[in-house]
Amino acid sequence: MPADRVAAAGADDGNRDGEGSVGADPSDAGSRGSAPSGTGSADPAGARTVAVVGGGISGLVAARELALAGAHVLLFEADDRLGGRVRSETVADATIDIGAEAFATRGGGVADLLAELGLGAEIVNPAPLGSWVVSAARAVPLPAAGTIGIPAAPLSRDAVRVLGLVGALRAALEPALPRSAGRGGSLAELVRARLGARVLERLVRPVVLGVHSSDPAELSISAVPGLADAFDRRGSLVAAARELRDSRTAAGGAVAGLRAGMGALVAALVAELDRLGVAVRAETAVSALRSRDAGGGWTVLTGPETGPETGPAGAAEATALDVDAVILAVPESVARRLLDAPPSAPEGRVEVVALLVEDPRLNRAPRGTGALVAEDAGSRIAAKALTHVTAKWPARAAALGAGRHILRLSYGRVGSAPATDGLNDEETTRLALRDASRILGVELEPGAVRAVRRRAWIAGSSTVAAAPMPEPRGIACAGDWVSGTGLASVVPGARAAARRIMEPTRSDPVSGRSAAVAASRTASHRSASSRTEPHPTEPHREGVQER
Ligand SMILES: Cc1cc2nc3c(=O)[nH]c(=O)nc-3n(C[C@H](O)[C@H](O)[C@H](O)COP(=O)(O)OP(=O)(O)OC[C@H]3O[C@@H](n4cnc5c(N)ncnc54)[C@H](O)[C@@H]3O)c2cc1C
Repeated sequence: MPADRVAAAGADDGNRDGEGSVGADPSDAGSRGSAPSGTGSADPAGARTVAVVGGGISGLVAARELALAGAHVLLFEADDRLGGRVRSETVADATIDIGAEAFATRGGGVADLLAELGLGAEIVNPAPLGSWVVSAARAVPLPAAGTIGIPAAPLSRDAVRVLGLVGALRAALEPALPRSAGRGGSLAELVRARLGARVLERLVRPVVLGVHSSDPAELSISAVPGLADAFDRRGSLVAAARELRDSRTAAGGAVAGLRAGMGALVAALVAELDRLGVAVRAETAVSALRSRDAGGGWTVLTGPETGPETGPAGAAEATALDVDAVILAVPESVARRLLDAPPSAPEGRVEVVALLVEDPRLNRAPRGTGALVAEDAGSRIAAKALTHVTAKWPARAAALGAGRHILRLSYGRVGSAPATDGLNDEETTRLALRDASRILGVELEPGAVRAVRRRAWIAGSSTVAAAPMPEPRGIACAGDWVSGTGLASVVPGARAAARRIMEPTRSDPVSGRSAAVAASRTASHRSASSRTEPHPTEPHREGVQER
């Protein structure tokens, strides 16, 4: 549809200041902020007008960065809430994160952002209880010292307990292998060749499934932040795991959360955008982008052309807005559709089911902060991981009162639909309660369930190679399919996308990047980390590698 007709069909007159003012839940967006003029982006002071498409953490961070740099910013979000896969909900006076629940401390990018937003004092560490791995045969604590299941000390007591003496000795020989052994294949092949089948099956596979929602056979070593470099430096996976563990310990721990849940980050970002005058349009899916001129200008269309994958149908009226540049902070499939790029491999889905149960037997945290499920337990346990939320984050337990617990189970992975698909709430609750009982080793009664929350999310696509997708002039892409899974990757990635827009080079006046560079980044990144999944159990300081 031509832009002028779209505009005529119900133009955004850019005059919605103050609409839908910030309510009790700032992520519940409505439309707010002072919109830049509806069409025509030139500003007397020369400021750029930039549209940000997608109001997840990537879009919110990018919008803030752009506004701080002096741009006029308009943010479009298809859903009625901002935050995307970061979302807190209230269950009986307690807050639960039904999407991302923690962040990796590596790099310090998330902590820096939180400090800038005044949330530095709200950062909390998980309880140092460690997590477990549950297989068909046993439930054992995950070795405390390790990375993505690779033991940093294969002969330690906890590693021998999981691997048996034979498996532990096999893994302990790894540093003596030639540096080249096992290289060139998938993460699963590398681990099997260097550390043996037991390390792969009993540790690495369950942890990778839990953290990346992908089988290690589908990932390369570069999917694990820092591991490839450490392996190159040390020539041994065991030594690399030790190096990464030591660096996390020095940083104060592998992961952290927020006292009131990660939704507080969304709320703070939304409040900041409001303060900075960013115009936020919730329930407004962008349906198409049209290149306006060779200089990088774009027309952003919203309205009836919305496709099924963009979520809610969005604003009833169609609108067109001319902007100087666009940040696409949407899932890869949506970005590809908007840019007329070849489609990506189908994205997987995961579902999180949170149970509030009352059972004092859980006070002793039988599986620490939670457990990962080994594949051989699949016939008995459909969930791939469980987080004992109230054991992991003691402040939440205090809000609930003694004997009440929140258990968060996750289902599904790339290439395998959640077992909860097609189940109604009652059936889902029954399945989750059965799985929780088996994982925790405590028979939970249906009468103990006080509340249930469930939410499905997209996960990343499979590693089937997608065609490279260049960033056209005037467009920058952000999100975990661009910069890597998890908040520690997407926060700096979103800031970088904003910089690509705001700090042009002479060769590319808007994006500052050539299409070829963008294409190679996108292509090389795909094999490394295109995953977006729940992060089940993060022991304090050591243990599971965080995203
Ligand atoms: C269950 C789960 C648990 C997780 N746990 C953790 C964790 O503990 N720690 C961690 O670091 N990471 C975790 N992650 C990953 C983390 O949540 C993501 O990496 C991060 O939130 C991605 O943010 P994003 O803004 O790039 O994408 P998203 O959050 O997906 O945001 C994209 C936004 O674009 C919007 N959109 C889509 N189409 C359109 C359109 N046409 N127009 C306008 N808007 C559109 C969507 O509605 C959405 O709001 C988890 C993910 C899931 C699903």
